[in-house]
Amino acid sequence: MAFDVKGYAKALDEFIIQMEKIPDLINPDTQGAMDGLCQVLRIAKVEADFYENLGYEEQKWGGHAVFYHRGEFDPERGIVYKEWTEEGNMMKYGIYPVLGESDWDETEQRKIDVFLKVLLTFNGRIRMQQMVERLTFRDQELGMYNLAWFMKKTNLLISQKEISKYAACQFNLRNFSVINQQIGRERGSRVLGKFIRQFQERLSGKEMVCRISGDNFVALFEKSNLNTVMEYLKGIAVVYDEKQKKRVWVTTHAGYYMIPVGCDSAASIVECLGTAINMARNVRKTDYAFFDAELMQGIRVGKMIEATLPEALEKEEFHVYYQPKIQLKNYHLVGAEALCRWFQNGKIVAPGEFIPVLEKSKLICMLDFYMLEHVCQDIRRWMDEGKEIVTVSVNLSRVHMGDMDLLDNILAIVDKYEVPHEYIEIELTETGTDVGFDHLKSLVSGLREQGFSISVDDFGTGYSSMNLIRELPWNVLKIDKSFLPDKSDNDRQKRVMFQHLISLAQDMEIECIVEGVESVEQIKLLKESNCYLAQGFYFDKPLAVTEFEEKLAEIRS
Ligand code: C2E
Ligand code: MG
Ligand code: MG
Repeated sequence: MAFDVKGYAKALDEFIIQMEKIPDLINPDTQGAMDGLCQVLRIAKVEADFYENLGYEEQKWGGHAVFYHRGEFDPERGIVYKEWTEEGNMMKYGIYPVLGESDWDETEQRKIDVFLKVLLTFNGRIRMQQMVERLTFRDQELGMYNLAWFMKKTNLLISQKEISKYAACQFNLRNFSVINQQIGRERGSRVLGKFIRQFQERLSGKEMVCRISGDNFVALFEKSNLNTVMEYLKGIAVVYDEKQKKRVWVTTHAGYYMIPVGCDSAASIVECLGTAINMARNVRKTDYAFFDAELMQGIRVGKMIEATLPEALEKEEFHVYYQPKIQLKNYHLVGAEALCRWFQNGKIVAPGEFIPVLEKSKLICMLDFYMLEHVCQDIRRWMDEGKEIVTVSVNLSRVHMGDMDLLDNILAIVDKYEVPHEYIEIELTETGTDVGFDHLKSLVSGLREQGFSISVDDFGTGYSSMNLIRELPWNVLKIDKSFLPDKSDNDRQKRVMFQHLISLAQDMEIECIVEGVESVEQIKLLKESNCYLAQGFYFDKPLAVTEFEEKLAEIRS
């Protein structure tokens, strides 16, 4: 189709008239002013990135603004143009065509060039300088300083040799998605803004808090202010509705770093903070962690475990231990849980030491399949030897969630040994958030359809317990040992809660087993609560396969 010259001329005039009324490009009216012209030129998006200098572009520490966006755009066929101010600030414009349409012809390209020049003229040097400042260092949503600002100011303190007076922290709001769900996104953003403003009020001088992205922030403060910062980040109630006096409790995960003398770059501080917060959040599952010698040692051990795992699997250093599950009406063995033991250089490494490390790197999936396969081999052998068989449960880490082939992979292993599906139970721990809930649901339903039994491990220790059991077809709830009152526990609340958990499972017609049973008193309590399945040291510790086979043999006798 021939280019609409008249339409273009009219749209260009209109664009210029409209733009004269707009103070700068970052203005809600910009989209309207560009609309006619962008339609004639088949432009779907006009955007810009701002960087204080070239180095910042490489690190992606800059600002971003969209001036125009209508419909779907083609990111592959855009025109990108860079402009510098005298100070070396850079602004990178991107103009993108409508997705699925033909390439711009030569005439259109020339007109787009004109459009860009008009745009640059409007955005004169001084305004551009201000805009770069505003967009490079300010977060657009909350209007607060961003990571690029943190880097700039921290590097300045390093060059002035003042940095060792300071500590830094990175923090992330805990369960912020849940807060958003509870009170709505808009109020959620208000809570976020308020939480940060109140934090800022506790800072002074060169101290600062800057936004990295979403609900992730980084702060720099004097070491003498550490207690105040830690106390605040532990959690506070934030009012989101003054009239109705409504509040939410906001807490954080945080990683801290006491910056040493000799620290030579802001980037290294950010890296240490990232390691510390990851340790708190994903590995130790604590509120905070410091980047220190102990943490470094932990990382070294983690790396060692990661590096040796494939070989250890190959050499079959992992052994399946079986912990019996007992029916309390007659004290018969009715099942077992397969638990992993690592025999490394003649020593047994406990799962508590290596499972968290493996979960961090997804290597846990290899181990879980290895365990399932060895359990299937054992059951196959017991069947061939004519032994009595009980259902064996295998732990499946939640790291598997999101693996779309998980069900097929489980089936492939179990069917390879022709093990009847009713002999296998899969234990899944509660998920901490709703992430992956859909997949969890389809996995649990799929496993049930295939005749496997499914249990919620460590029930009661996660966050989404009620939804989780209501919406998914579980067979078994495994109540975590932390809910089981022990001898020294006169805690009435704990008993009440324990009994309610059991009756909840019974009302929902889900089988219920309690783990970590260690004493006669606890067995008495279980029976009083009408729960007749138990697993724990009172009966047996996890047993090596030969010992467990002796127990299996006793079933017959
Ligand atoms: P879990 O699945 O909740 O397993 C129960 C843990 O409680 C086991 O610890 C078991 O030895 C311990 N336990 C059993 N009875 C008692 C008792 O009476 N008192 C006390 N204090 N503890 C008792 P273990 O074997 O150290 O395993 C710890 C965790 O490691 C397991 O918790 C499970 O989450 C994980 N794990 C173990 N093997 C595997 C595996 O093959 N794959 C995956 N993904 N996780 C595994
Ligand atoms: Mg378990
Ligand atoms: Mg458990």
